[in-house]
Amino acid sequence: MKVRVRFAPSPTGFLHVGGARTAIFNWLFARKYHGEFLLRIEDTDVKRSGKEMVKAMIDGLTWLGLDWDDEPVYQSTRFHIYKNYAASLVEQRRAYRCYCSRERLQKAREQAIQEGRTFQYDRFCLNLTKAEKKARDSEGSPFVIRFEVDEGFTTFKDEVYGEIKIDNKQIEDFILLRSDGIPTYHLAVVVDDREMDITHIIRGDDHLSNTPKHVLLYHAFGWTCPTFAHVPLILEPDRQRLSKRHGATAIEEYKNSGYLPEVVLNFVTLLGWSQGDDREIFTRDELIRAFEISGISKKSAIFDEKKLQWMNGKYLLSMDNEKLLQMVIPDMINAGLISTNFLHENKEILLRIVGLLKTRIKRLTEFAGLSQYFFKEPEQYEKKGVDQHWQDSRVIEWFELLCDKLAGINEFNQENIENAIRCLAEELKISAAKLFHPTRLALTGLTASPGLFEIMEVLSQETVLRRLRKAIEFIKNSSSTT
Ligand code: GLU
Repeated sequence: MKVRVRFAPSPTGFLHVGGARTAIFNWLFARKYHGEFLLRIEDTDVKRSGKEMVKAMIDGLTWLGLDWDDEPVYQSTRFHIYKNYAASLVEQRRAYRCYCSRERLQKAREQAIQEGRTFQYDRFCLNLTKAEKKARDSEGSPFVIRFEVDEGFTTFKDEVYGEIKIDNKQIEDFILLRSDGIPTYHLAVVVDDREMDITHIIRGDDHLSNTPKHVLLYHAFGWTCPTFAHVPLILEPDRQRLSKRHGATAIEEYKNSGYLPEVVLNFVTLLGWSQGDDREIFTRDELIRAFEISGISKKSAIFDEKKLQWMNGKYLLSMDNEKLLQMVIPDMINAGLISTNFLHENKEILLRIVGLLKTRIKRLTEFAGLSQYFFKEPEQYEKKGVDQHWQDSRVIEWFELLCDKLAGINEFNQENIENAIRCLAEELKISAAKLFHPTRLALTGLTASPGLFEIMEVLSQETVLRRLRKAIEFIKNSSSTT
């Protein structure tokens, strides 16, 4: 049997983390077993399902690198099919027309609440006589089609939750087709999964409670049920349900804030799935090989953005400098740090900068900000650094001597720079650190940066001297004003 799975989003205008995880699990499962991953757009609510909504969903999947087989199926083009299936159930007396008005149902619901009962449709229309039904039809009364739920129990096996057994008394005669001819989710999902030859349904566990209804429908149609696997909720670290309120939930936002698609794929796959150990980093192919439905956990998954950042940082660190450079170029150009000309003429320098900074970034979008001092004079100096490293009255003198030493270097490379600084420290009888920290602040405006000597080499002798002199002026001015 060839595996055929599907991702069946209702278009909402974005692909959220929960939806992405459902898509990923299905995709991994299909790719692992050389099956097919199908896309079905559940756009029965035509008013709320514009083209842009679908596009956002498709863009999200594409960014994650999830490809699908065949053309997507749109439920909105299949209303006539659902109608026929509903009619066939009416013919077989497994479903019936219900003419109850909204008002009647509302009243019955209110009464149930008053009596402390859960409301269930009272089968008023199931018990109509033939003549009564005929009369309603000849009046042209609008009707919905309801499924007639037999007495007994409905059982099915869920690959995550195990055996499920529900007393049918808990299931009301649910609607299959609304009076405007639009199918309910229950009818459409069962018909489509059957027509699309879906073998496994992997979806969020918010649908677990719907599944008994689907099983009843499969049986009524005389069809075999596919395998079900319901995936637990995703929660925030505070165990609240993951929601927009808690920050980004749309995949697009992760893209825009500098996460790599392979990281989001890796991270989201681990929300509720593991291969049985605590391994966390997987390539796309490794995930395909490792994925099994049996690795899906029953426990809710916790979405920890800090972990996502850590993982992204790890990926960035292992990335080839050239590839990383290509990814940060647009941001650097946008931030006005480099031009395309500069890029062509200084590729080597840029690659070195990428190599230096990649240990320090967790997200791509942080790169341009962190790299500023390579391209621009610092406009200000970190206050903490000024307080800690520039208060010693000898700093100006040290900087002046340092400028002389550095100016005397013929080949301005790391080794010579380091020698010069260490040699000066010795002459001054101070620790080398006494020079490193103030110098770093003068060159970068910051208290933390990659290796000082390497930065100096990349910046060039001229820039280093200019910045040290500028710092001398700054210190002089600020000490004269205090
Ligand atoms: N359209 C449903 C949803 O987005 C699909 C449920 C299913 O996969 O059956 O939740």
